[in-house]
Amino acid sequence: MAALPSLETLQRAQKAGDKTPLASALAELERAPEASATLDLLDAAWSAPRAHVIGLTGPPGVGKSTLAGALIGRWRQNGTSIGVIAVDPSSKRSGGALLGDRTRLRTDPTDGGVFVRSMAARDRLGGLADLTLSAMVLMRALFDRVLVETVGVGQSETDVADTTDTVLFCVQPGSGDGVQFMKAGIVEIPDVVAVTKADTGAVATRTRSDLAGALTLSPDAAGGWSVPVLAVSAQTGVGLDELDAAIDRHAVWLGEAGRLSARRQAQSELWYRDAIRERLGRDGAKTIPSLAAGSAVSPFRAISDIVSGRR
Ligand code: GDP
Repeated sequence: MAALPSLETLQRAQKAGDKTPLASALAELERAPEASATLDLLDAAWSAPRAHVIGLTGPPGVGKSTLAGALIGRWRQNGTSIGVIAVDPSSKRSGGALLGDRTRLRTDPTDGGVFVRSMAARDRLGGLADLTLSAMVLMRALFDRVLVETVGVGQSETDVADTTDTVLFCVQPGSGDGVQFMKAGIVEIPDVVAVTKADTGAVATRTRSDLAGALTLSPDAAGGWSVPVLAVSAQTGVGLDELDAAIDRHAVWLGEAGRLSARRQAQSELWYRDAIRERLGRDGAKTIPSLAAGSAVSPFRAISDIVSGRR
């Protein structure tokens, strides 16, 4: 059995640009998700959050990978370290092995400040697997930023909102997504909306103003955050300064009035309830206690304790 590196070892390796320990830790997380060493590592990571976690979602072909590449390139210029989780809804696992870095996202493989991991979404159709949550929690303790990229196919949009701090939703110019947005209840999911391929001109500009209008009509669900709608081009760089600034502003807003910890607490309660319901059924889940706010015990250990009857 491969030894699981400690959080300190992983942090040191990350600083030194050595990606191997994190790669093996992620493999262990998948191989033995409820082993005591795994839960120890997840507790440690849970108690040491560092990164701003950004979700990037939108339909296939909208330009997510290209935009992610452009954003990462910008963030790397000032030395920001970045962990990327690219969730591939179509891929299947083979033989229990993790997929390689099969995302279309292109980053410099020699850059020790960027770590990219592709993952199959397997627990739910297009949704985020448990491994995605634990990988996110681990990477959150290692990097300045974590980017979770998912293809928006129904459930995954909600899942990414339940996993990340800031959801960046990508919209294709001229796609009529404004109407879809309102109908499908997606309107509450994004914190920032980017109409991609702004270099295509008038279509993107019109889509942007349609969406901005649609969002103005929606009730203010986010409690004081008004969702910016920006037209961006990853190809020409148009709008990327504004997009970057909007993401940063959301991070600052979250940091105020305890919003970030409230959001993370509510998310972890959701994962916990979901996991328990999946394992014990609806009735079994009814009587379980809530997670203690601010606890050093990660939801992963709490889930494992409940399922194994230790709690
Ligand atoms: P994803 O499926 O959402 O990850 O989309 P990709 O990043 O793979 O991009 C889909 C297609 O859109 C590719 O052919 C890209 O070259 C193109 N694309 C991406 N960004 C831009 C952009 O800013 N402008 C234009 N014109 N095309 C883009």
